[in-house]
Amino acid sequence: MGIGIDLGGTAIKGGIVDQLGVIQEERMLRTQSQLGYAQVLDDLVLLIKELQQLSPAETAVGIGIPGILSGDGTTVVSCPNLNWQNRALKQDLERLLTLEVLLVNDATAACIAEAAFGSTRGRSSSVMLTLGTGVGGGVIINDRVISGAHGVASEIGHMIMAENFYNCNCGKNGCLETFASATALIRYCRKQLAEGVESDLKAAENFDARRIFEAAKAGDSLALAAVNRLARYLGWAIANISDLIDPEIFTIGGGLSGAGEFLLERVKAETKSRLTYPATAMPEIVLATFRNEAGMIGAANLCHFI
Ligand code: BGC
Ligand code: ZN
Repeated sequence: MGIGIDLGGTAIKGGIVDQLGVIQEERMLRTQSQLGYAQVLDDLVLLIKELQQLSPAETAVGIGIPGILSGDGTTVVSCPNLNWQNRALKQDLERLLTLEVLLVNDATAACIAEAAFGSTRGRSSSVMLTLGTGVGGGVIINDRVISGAHGVASEIGHMIMAENFYNCNCGKNGCLETFASATALIRYCRKQLAEGVESDLKAAENFDARRIFEAAKAGDSLALAAVNRLARYLGWAIANISDLIDPEIFTIGGGLSGAGEFLLERVKAETKSRLTYPATAMPEIVLATFRNEAGMIGAANLCHFI
């Protein structure tokens, strides 16, 4: 067994996961990450202790982090969506827990889980995209996770696509994350509504991404335009990555992957339209087996290697 945690912008998910990637127990805690590092630290400790009680023999916990880590895996260097910089998270948590803390990028964890137990199993080259508060990426080439010269490879969410109407939390303008995340979808719809565009979403005060997909499926023209825009940029990003490394398969996870085929078919069409060699090099594009749970499973998996 292993304890795996997926730290997100609005929730912390945790689970006890066995050696085959099967979740035995799962818990979730809403978190208000805007309250800052100390609050999230408290929430993490609460959830981890609860899981530890369910499985007292554990000696470690793996945590998927929505940002980049130092080369030695001890420090969160930058987490755009939590607004953290240079936090010694491993040390801070180990002081409060009786477990060894293993940190990993959340999308890399998801990529590893899908490759070990899910949609990309048996494939030697795969790319994972997680669509949630941010856009995460994981890249495996020739059965090796690509981490880059500085440990920050596969930050697909911050690839520049085009000018956009708002800046990314990383400080730049034009990041894929500002076109293809849940946050992006909501911001785009809010902006259009503020400009007077008619939509069923107007009546729903605090709509989330799920509500936008529902409205799009029901034919609401603003929601549909927003989903199509998201799919367009995601497809273009996939085409760019394909032209660069030509992986066998892309897998899409994170909360937005819950939109299923409705999203996938659009992304495939957009990819095909911008790929240089669509006839010979169209990659397979699938939904992640573990959807929004891949990160947690991949993080737990780390515990089996210590
Ligand atoms: C971060 C990534 C992370 C992704 C998903 C991005 O903003 O830069 O490191 O994987 O969000 O959480
Ligand atoms: Zn960015």
